[in-house]
Amino acid sequence: MNQPNNAAPSLDAYWMPFSANRRFKADPRFVARASGMYYYTDTDREVLDATSGLWCVNAGHCRPSIAKAIAEQAARLDYATAFNMGHPIVFEFAERLAQITPQGLDHIFFTNSGSESVETALKIALAYHRARDKGTKTRLIGRERGYHGVNFGGISVGGLPKNRMYFGGLLGGVDHLPHTHDPKRNGFAKGQPEHGAELADELERIVALHDASNIAAVIVEPLAGSTGVLPPPLGYLERLRAICNKHDILLIFDEVITGFGRLGAPFASQRFGVTPDLMTMAKGITNAAVPMGGVAASKAIHDTLIERADAPIELFHGYTYSGHPLACAAGLATLDIYRDEGLFERSRSLEPLWEEAIHSLDDAPHVIDVRNFGLTAGIELSARASAPGVRAMEAFERAFDQGVLIRVSGETIALSPPLIVELAQIERAVETVRSVLHQVH
Ligand code: PLP
Repeated sequence: MNQPNNAAPSLDAYWMPFSANRRFKADPRFVARASGMYYYTDTDREVLDATSGLWCVNAGHCRPSIAKAIAEQAARLDYATAFNMGHPIVFEFAERLAQITPQGLDHIFFTNSGSESVETALKIALAYHRARDKGTKTRLIGRERGYHGVNFGGISVGGLPKNRMYFGGLLGGVDHLPHTHDPKRNGFAKGQPEHGAELADELERIVALHDASNIAAVIVEPLAGSTGVLPPPLGYLERLRAICNKHDILLIFDEVITGFGRLGAPFASQRFGVTPDLMTMAKGITNAAVPMGGVAASKAIHDTLIERADAPIELFHGYTYSGHPLACAAGLATLDIYRDEGLFERSRSLEPLWEEAIHSLDDAPHVIDVRNFGLTAGIELSARASAPGVRAMEAFERAFDQGVLIRVSGETIALSPPLIVELAQIERAVETVRSVLHQVH
């Protein structure tokens, strides 16, 4: 039965995603509105957003120009199918995006999320090899500790055990590179860790085992985010690129988190000077105001699929909401903000202060590693022997109660503030983390 409007809703009907439902519902925390760097709870308490929502509100919350663009677009053209039909704003948005994607990745396929972008990129890779008569190249290579969303392709190439173990056999024909986390050699590293480039050579071992003629693509996050912020070792991505080139294997960067200024450049690819063949994006693409994702493809991939098609429809793939007009309107307004406020440059220039502030936590209680790159940080805690993961969860709850939103994944606290963050807000976030680490046992 519907609730009357003024009654507080029951918490029963809503099944919360990726959440401790029982824990939340026993002691709920609601945010009711947001502005700039802050959320406001239902009791109007201010909470500093040190995580950009979920790595996505890169320009800060409730930007008026984005809200206005969405409202105007909803009144002008709410929806049009993207299948064999067009509306001008989707072409305009693709063109604007192609101006900031890495050089050569100029063709944009729209999706509605990071997970869909991953599935799309994997499917494009397979279709590409088939279109050039290399249809045996089907094996997909992911990486341990990788996160590529929650759909079947993404969890198959992904490397987070809990995200895989409940869901059956997953895709066949998938292998994994080793992860790059090596606290013994790289503990408390500032920026890119020094050791680990040679881990990319594991790809040679996989190629030797299966033969390159059977391998379609390698997919990695340039900086692994969801697993707890693992910047790539110096030289690692370059080596992966070289091995992929040598064996005619496509390299896919999953830039769902690392795109749109998070690492001090439009995309991680530009920051690290390594260009993939396919690149996923989402999150910051619309400042998270409307769900959207996309895949940027190289000219070679795009042209091969278009020119060699054996049917009028060149790629049998797409979503009802691919290139949704409201998302495009939000995206254009978002790109304007990034450009006009120089937010990618701002992110880069904040890095030294960010790094110093974050590493002031190196000696805080329970901390066993601290990592940073761009405007990201991972603060890894020792697990409580009797209850793994609970210490970090308690730190999250206490930080929220003390006015700062942080994120935890496993034993790691991850911070990734909007790119408009001020120094005083960085200091407040760090001091709150320090304080809650003193409070949890
Ligand atoms: N890929 C990466 C690297 C991500 O970090 C995420 C989400 O955090 C995804 C894919 C999935 O994105 P979504 O939750 O929008 O499906």
